[in-house]
Amino acid sequence: MAKYEVVIIGGGPAGLAAGLYTSRAGLKGLLIERGAFGGQIVNAPLVENYPGFPEGISGSDLGSLMYQQATKYGLETITAEVTGLALGRPYKIVTTERSFGADAIIIAAGSEYRKLGVPGEEMLLGHGVSYCATCDGFFFRQREVAVVGGGDAAITDALELVQHASKVYVIHRRDQLRAGQVLQQRALAQPKIEFIWNTVVEEIVGEQLVKALRLRNVKTNQSSILEVAGVFVAVGLKPNSQPFAGVVELSETGHIVADELMATSVPGIFAAGDIRKSSARQIASAVGDGATAALSAFNYLRG
Ligand code: NAP
Repeated sequence: MAKYEVVIIGGGPAGLAAGLYTSRAGLKGLLIERGAFGGQIVNAPLVENYPGFPEGISGSDLGSLMYQQATKYGLETITAEVTGLALGRPYKIVTTERSFGADAIIIAAGSEYRKLGVPGEEMLLGHGVSYCATCDGFFFRQREVAVVGGGDAAITDALELVQHASKVYVIHRRDQLRAGQVLQQRALAQPKIEFIWNTVVEEIVGEQLVKALRLRNVKTNQSSILEVAGVFVAVGLKPNSQPFAGVVELSETGHIVADELMATSVPGIFAAGDIRKSSARQIASAVGDGATAALSAFNYLRG
């Protein structure tokens, strides 16, 4: 079993930043990523809120630059899916390819947006379908858009989108919001927001770009078409923490509980980025988490 001082799980901004810092600190490290290096950002056509790129940068370019920089100082990488983690000296990381030993681990496996699972959603991703109002709201200036969901994320997104869009429909499957009272009151008082209650999206319609949504009222069973230029899906997040359940402490929502130094409930195991409880879920904050986790891992190993 190949053994490393530090193994980083996840190759998004948090993992790549952790890899950059651990390799520059001279730690022998391996980064394991199951999909594209860069993580979720590779799907973002334009990232305009990551400092240092005043004109914006495509998510795939940013991911590839982060990868180049992280691997420049000797970080090894492998494409494989982590399926489990066993405690002991060293820690054992089990993947679909083979197992690795590590004295310290940084878990930066991210989270996935829960999908609606309706026709058109996957095909029109980045062409009117988005899971991030902060990232993509700006592209819908003076257009009509919809948000799907009734939780804090959906209402926060709707309130953010009114700054850009001419109208924001919030489509919710029940007639009561799950979001907190303050957010609810703000949204209900906002004239540009219109709620469509007891309604689900059955199809996202469009060929090159989103043109409309096919809706169904779950009480009356009536279908209707709503013309919008964009749809923001905010029906919750799924942290990719399943392989770590029973090893490190998870929150009720399945996020990894970590302190401000990114330390989890297990000494030598750190968490960074979207998988961490209370993460701000931004590229900039994920990078900060990754750097902090790397410094903590260094101090744990060599401090
Ligand atoms: P959430 O609280 O789980 O809400 C998900 C919403 O999506 C619910 O309204 C749910 O409907 C709806 N939904 C789930 N599956 C659906 C489906 N297949 N079709 C249609 N609707 C569906 O998730 P979240 O809003 O992403 O928030 C996640 C966590 O982050 C929460 O703890 C939240 O408090 C926190 N957060 C906080 C803030 C803030 O405070 N500003 C902002 C964002 C997130 P039902 O209500 O019917 O179940």
